[in-house]
Amino acid sequence: MSTDTSSRSHYDVVVVGGGHNGLVAAAYLARAGLSTLVLERLDHTGGAAISAQAFPGHPVRLSRYSYLVSVMPDALMADLDLDVTLTSRGTASYTPTLRDGVPGGLFVQRPEGPGTAESFAALTGGEEEYAAWQRFYGELEQMAGVLAPTFLSPLPTERDLQAQVGADIWRDVVERPLGEAVERRFQDDTVRGVVGTDGLIGTFASLHDPSLVQNKCFLYHLVGNGTGEWRVPVGGMGAVTDGLLRAAVGAGAEVLTGAGVSRITPGADGVEITWDGASGSHSVTADHVLSGVAPWVLRILLGEGEHPDKPVGSQLKINLLLERLPRLRSGMDPAKAFAGTLHLGEDYSQIERAYAEAAAGQVPSTMPGEVYCHSLTDPSILGDAPEGTHTLTYFGLHTPATLFEGPDREARKALAVERALAELDKHLEEPISSCVATDASGRPCIEAKIPQEIEADLAMPGGHIFHGDLEWPWAANRALLDTPASRWGVQTDHERVLLCGSGARRGGAVSGLGGHNAAQAVLEAR
Ligand SMILES: Cc1cc2nc3c(=O)[nH]c(=O)nc-3n(C[C@H](O)[C@H](O)[C@H](O)COP(=O)(O)OP(=O)(O)OC[C@H]3O[C@@H](n4cnc5c(N)ncnc54)[C@H](O)[C@@H]3O)c2cc1C
Repeated sequence: MSTDTSSRSHYDVVVVGGGHNGLVAAAYLARAGLSTLVLERLDHTGGAAISAQAFPGHPVRLSRYSYLVSVMPDALMADLDLDVTLTSRGTASYTPTLRDGVPGGLFVQRPEGPGTAESFAALTGGEEEYAAWQRFYGELEQMAGVLAPTFLSPLPTERDLQAQVGADIWRDVVERPLGEAVERRFQDDTVRGVVGTDGLIGTFASLHDPSLVQNKCFLYHLVGNGTGEWRVPVGGMGAVTDGLLRAAVGAGAEVLTGAGVSRITPGADGVEITWDGASGSHSVTADHVLSGVAPWVLRILLGEGEHPDKPVGSQLKINLLLERLPRLRSGMDPAKAFAGTLHLGEDYSQIERAYAEAAAGQVPSTMPGEVYCHSLTDPSILGDAPEGTHTLTYFGLHTPATLFEGPDREARKALAVERALAELDKHLEEPISSCVATDASGRPCIEAKIPQEIEADLAMPGGHIFHGDLEWPWAANRALLDTPASRWGVQTDHERVLLCGSGARRGGAVSGLGGHNAAQAVLEAR
């Protein structure tokens, strides 16, 4: 995979975009004996699922964008002989609190043990809140057990699934805005927030949004492999992509990098694909094209222009390299607090206020976000870094791309980063800045990216981490499922052009589902 020229002029399938989903599709198709070409505009594959050395002078391999895996089925990994280990984190979450100026926190163990019940009781003053928590997540696990096994099959209908899922949880997750269930089932502001944030990852919405986009996001975060557990890819996210690349190339797929597709022209007998690389412009034809790029980008490549409904991403991503983990005011062991998802400014009332402020065009006064330390679970990414070194990744909510439009973009970004780190500092014995390593030029090892920068890096329109808002992972009861592509949820307006990326119906997150399902649709159509 080093040149930008292909070995043939016609392929059974051309995959546009070498993100992890494109590689999954290529691996399945090449294994089935189809001639397959992957075209990737960057000089490496993986898209948002990569590891990188982000800080000069530190050979630490950070998962630069995505960092945890949940939605990728174990069966898909086994199918492709993926030599990747996903490890459980010792902590599910820790949420530091300051109530009446007194530092405390909510600690959720993995697996939950007596310490979790004690932590709930200490925070909420009784046992009801933890009982409500166990009931809610128990119901969700039943739902996940029904949904997850359908992900590698043609789309089930909504009716089929509803019949197998408890009525209360179906109503709470599928029919009514998530905020209603959160408010009805939980009383404590912090507990409510911890529950609700899963609906807001990369998704700009109130928990009461009538579109239910927050419910869809919530569902994807709770169903992976029937448990919803988010695991750590050992070696970083790049290990996942490297494994997928090996699977695709090993099966005979051709993968070209530095090959930016500029035009896709569907015809009655096939599709013409044109790309530009260092050696000039090239074209091939294919029976099918699988689009691993966002549907909004695909339209442009098809010559349909920029659709006015461009996706709007909403996250602030910050990567940090630390000389040591900071101590917490609550006295909680940092090795436990940072090993799971550490929630900041994510009380329910704070999240909803941040949404209202951002919707009114303001950087949230209290930035909701979460941090997590990869290297506590998997130190292999640190290489030979000095003892005590750790990575920290921050994922902020409610910072839509629209906040950073206009001439004061850099100032607004700086304000958002400052507020995000200030939210962490509130709970620390020592400011995070005193723990941050410096790079080869003496600059602090802090890399921050707003949605516009994610778009510039990865061509995710609007910096939307799922290529666009998520959809339910099933077909409407009356949907016309008359083609393989529609049955697998990967269709476009063009019979020979299918979606294989995050924008496919079940494609969101590092899951491989878009790639697997598009490959199955092609194989079924032949
Ligand atoms: C900051 C961030 C954090 C995230 N965290 C997580 C997480 O922890 N866990 C999780 O599951 N998900 C996470 N996600 C979401 C997840 O990373 C994405 O949903 C997923 O990686 C999308 O994979 P993909 O293969 O569908 O598309 P992409 O990764 O977007 O890949 C598409 C590829 O197409 C290429 N391309 C674009 N245009 C062209 C063109 N014209 N010609 C050729 N190639 C082109 C791009 O360069 C890219 O390589 C995160 C995303 C971001 C941005």
